[in-house]
Amino acid sequence: MNTEEYEFVSCPYCWEQLEIAVERISGRQEYTEDCHVCCRPILFQIETFEDGECDIQTLMDE
Ligand SMILES: [Zn+2]
Repeated sequence: MNTEEYEFVSCPYCWEQLEIAVERISGRQEYTEDCHVCCRPILFQIETFEDGECDIQTLMDE
């Protein structure tokens, strides 16, 4: 079963839309990944709920 889904988020620095792969595991994930456009570090905070809905926050990691 493939639990990865693609979601669109905005970079908090340059506001470009980025497509990210989100693993649908319930609970909270937090990781940093560089923006593909401006190369600055984005802190992703992803919370996935039991019904499959997820909440993605993109924050400046500086
Ligand atoms: Zn950016």
